[in-house]
Amino acid sequence: MRIDRRARRRRRRIFYLCTVFFVLLVAALIVWIIRLLPTKAASDSSSSAPSVSESSAPADPVESEQSVAISGSAGESSTGESSTQESSALPAVPDGYELLPVSEEALHQGALILVNKTYAYEFPASQDLISMYDLTDGLYSVSGTDVMMDAVAAQPLDNLLSDFYAATGIGSINILCGYRTLEESQELFDASAEQNGLEHAERYVMLPGYSEHHSALSADLGILLDGGGLDYYYPTDSYAWITEHAADYGFILRYPEDKTQITDIDYEAWHFRYVGFPHAQAMNELGFCLEEYIDFLKQYTVEGEHYTVGSYEIYYVPAAESIPVPTGRSYEVSGNNVDGFIVTVGGAA
Ligand SMILES: [Zn+2]
Repeated sequence: MRIDRRARRRRRRIFYLCTVFFVLLVAALIVWIIRLLPTKAASDSSSSAPSVSESSAPADPVESEQSVAISGSAGESSTGESSTQESSALPAVPDGYELLPVSEEALHQGALILVNKTYAYEFPASQDLISMYDLTDGLYSVSGTDVMMDAVAAQPLDNLLSDFYAATGIGSINILCGYRTLEESQELFDASAEQNGLEHAERYVMLPGYSEHHSALSADLGILLDGGGLDYYYPTDSYAWITEHAADYGFILRYPEDKTQITDIDYEAWHFRYVGFPHAQAMNELGFCLEEYIDFLKQYTVEGEHYTVGSYEIYYVPAAESIPVPTGRSYEVSGNNVDGFIVTVGGAA
């Protein structure tokens, strides 16, 4: 009997212990699940990010780096997967808009990139260049067969100079320079430094890598002189037609006389830069140089008011892996080479 009781007690004890152990296990499981839920929620919304526990905080940058690498390298092969991942991290897209995945390189490409002493030109893997020598019909001249412009700017430049001839009968305009490689810029800089000293070179010649000419969106114009020489273009007399009409062709005078404080470049009457439509007109109307215009556009966001020029609508999107673009309407996206994208809606259609 005693032995029986002891055995029963022992069994009961074992039963209690098992029950306690099971209850503790369930409790631990519940605590674990509860802890897991807020961590997930925190990683979904950036606003609650600081509440992420200390132990998971150091892992976060690694995680985000990995996700960037994944969507950057395998973006095309698994667009569906990456877009669903991204959409959870992005703000809601307004009605009538959809997300367009953009590459990291895209931030540094497009007609509206700002290239100056602060923002270097980021060379892409390949540039679509057209020789101006091949385009001219003899209504203007080109200083060499190697004077190239970006495909987007070449035809508008040809139109501007051909129409100048049609309007004035003057055929002495010469395209001195378009696209410039890094090596060519380096040579120019070194030659200037050797001739006039480093200080002079730094003041008057763009540091290699920071020249707008790398983008092939800029052209320097010259005038062939009667005696056979060549001079830089200045808007004197009939030549003023080019400066006055450049915006109609998508070009701006990049370094105006009254903006040297902002551009940090002396007045260059000959340096024209393609920014496209309707931006050249908009900048003229606003009286802004490119630095001011890029800054000005940042107040116009997709969900807020858009900047309108005629039938065009313009808005700015901070740098992201996907940007909202209108569904079923024509648009163009340009990086600003600083911190985001400019979407230009309408016009062409
Ligand atoms: Zn120039």
